[in-house]
Amino acid sequence: MTPYDGTTTQDATATGDLAVDVRGLRKRYGEVTAVDGIDLAVRHGEVYGILGPNGAGKSTTVEILQGHRARDGGDVAVLGVDPASAGRAWRSRVGVVWQDESAPVELTVRETVRQFARYYPNPRDPEEAIALVGLEEKAASRVKSLSGGQRRRLDVALGVIGDPALLLLDEPTTGFDPAARRQFWSLIRGLADEGTTILLTTHYLEEAEALAHRLAVIADGRVVAEGAPTALRGQYGTEAVVEWAEPDGTPRVEHTRTPTRTVAQLTARFDGEIPGLRIGRPSLEDVYLRLTGQEATR
Ligand code: ATP
Repeated sequence: MTPYDGTTTQDATATGDLAVDVRGLRKRYGEVTAVDGIDLAVRHGEVYGILGPNGAGKSTTVEILQGHRARDGGDVAVLGVDPASAGRAWRSRVGVVWQDESAPVELTVRETVRQFARYYPNPRDPEEAIALVGLEEKAASRVKSLSGGQRRRLDVALGVIGDPALLLLDEPTTGFDPAARRQFWSLIRGLADEGTTILLTTHYLEEAEALAHRLAVIADGRVVAEGAPTALRGQYGTEAVVEWAEPDGTPRVEHTRTPTRTVAQLTARFDGEIPGLRIGRPSLEDVYLRLTGQEATR
């Protein structure tokens, strides 16, 4: 398989050449609607990010894609198969890195990776998988002696030991320090360069920007924005933010594509200096916080 070549979604959808094809996905837990009509189209060889705050529905979505959770509605095809009825052959092609650590703690890293390799028809060489995640020096150490970041690397080694076509990672770097996060990013990039399709969820905008060819921003179980990080910046980052204070001191904020007009109107209204006037362009972080309803109130 070749790495992502930049084909557009339309091309891929038209040819049916999608690694993950989700339409109108729905999931409720009692009264809570966790996923409320999500569409996703992930191409082969792509790194795709699902970005959203706590409780947005990321884990639920990924668990449905893994076949570990039943859905209430929508169509899902992962490597062309519905995960709800997929068999062993499909499972061996989909690697999963769980949010909770799964490796047995008494075994060594090498023993663990070798044991998992036996579950797959065409596994990677265990030593190669250990090297891929940079755990060569810890190969003979017991799993329980690893740091949190090293455990996560082992989880990735176990996720890729079956040489999957698609790797699903749910919040892989939560709890990492900045250096460990960057090391992890290069590991993911290396896998993508080898041609593995990668779908990962994250809380971190920086992570989605650094890794994802395209991303879906989700909030309250819905996709609120979708596209390449640069395209999202272009689409939403062109708005200006005009801030001022009313004569009684009440702070005001207006998002506008025509800030000059807003300032002209304010100038006419205030007949002089506009108190507290500030004009700015939002960063991608501002855009993300706004899209997900987390914008700070001023
Ligand atoms: P986080 O970033 O915190 O992991 P998330 O985006 O992965 O959040 P989900 O874990 O999918 O979000 O949760 C979506 C919503 O569904 C939340 O309101 C959550 O409380 C609820 N939920 C998730 N799992 C269950 C469950 N097993 N039973 C009941 N409600 C659940």
